[in-house]
Amino acid sequence: MLFDLHSHTTFSDGVLTPCELVSRAVGNGVDVLAITDHDTLDAYRDTPLQQDNIRLVTGIELSTQWENTGIHVLGLNIDLDSDSIIAAAKSQSEARLRRARRIGENLHKKGVDGAFDGALKLSNGTYIGRPHFAQYLVNIGKVDSISAAFRKYMGDGKAGDVKQQWAALPKIIAWIRNANGIAVLAHPLKYKLTRTRLKRLLDDFIDAGGQGMEVVSGQQLPQQTNDMAQLCEQRKLLASCGSDFHMPGRHWAELGRFAPLPGNVTPVWEHF
Ligand code: AMP
Ligand code: MN
Ligand code: MN
Ligand code: MN
Repeated sequence: MLFDLHSHTTFSDGVLTPCELVSRAVGNGVDVLAITDHDTLDAYRDTPLQQDNIRLVTGIELSTQWENTGIHVLGLNIDLDSDSIIAAAKSQSEARLRRARRIGENLHKKGVDGAFDGALKLSNGTYIGRPHFAQYLVNIGKVDSISAAFRKYMGDGKAGDVKQQWAALPKIIAWIRNANGIAVLAHPLKYKLTRTRLKRLLDDFIDAGGQGMEVVSGQQLPQQTNDMAQLCEQRKLLASCGSDFHMPGRHWAELGRFAPLPGNVTPVWEHF
């Protein structure tokens, strides 16, 4: 059975609709798929969970911060109708809008005008994020690519990287658990933390009620997989895996295309 428990649609910053995403996942041999859009469950409002060739598991990717680093937590197998997760999505969406205004102000100070309005127009109204600002910067000719936009304006520590608006880590985890979901730390290697800080993050995550971590996130080195599996096993966390698919053409984040979980960890789906 192939589980891909991390993917995005047009309801956040992915380019495929839920229907297109599901077709691509089926084509790639995925048996169980979680759509985990950033801070929204809207994809599930128009996607049946029961499909002919694939099983969908509910999911969301919530943004928070830890020691001034932006952190993402997946809520898997949550009850879509729970008041807790509906409140979470509403609160995070409001936080996104506040944050977008701040990003606009910060970019204005850097000589970029109209960024908030520009990004809002490019967004779907619910999810407004750094990718929209990056696209706006490309559109007005400030930079010539999305990656340059992140490098110069939107990336970690740059003017457009506003983190302080999110709910705190314990609150994020409580929202997930109160909706009967499993809280999984997303892509631990992406935060580029030192070893000591990564271990501290995992300990704080567990103290706050976190239950799992992504041991495999897209294409990664076998050595990284073994390392993540060891951290996971030592802390008795549940192990998850997913592509973090956003769009076709990124071979390192393609639906279903990643190494299997090592045998020494407990897969998160044993608790679905
Ligand atoms: P936000 O949720 O608004 O903080 O935006 C973060 C999203 O921007 C991530 O989920 C990625 O999809 C995207 N992103 C982050 N860094 C880069 C980058 N260097 N190039 C392209 N997209 C990026
Ligand atoms: Mn994203
Ligand atoms: Mn993420
Ligand atoms: Mn993601």
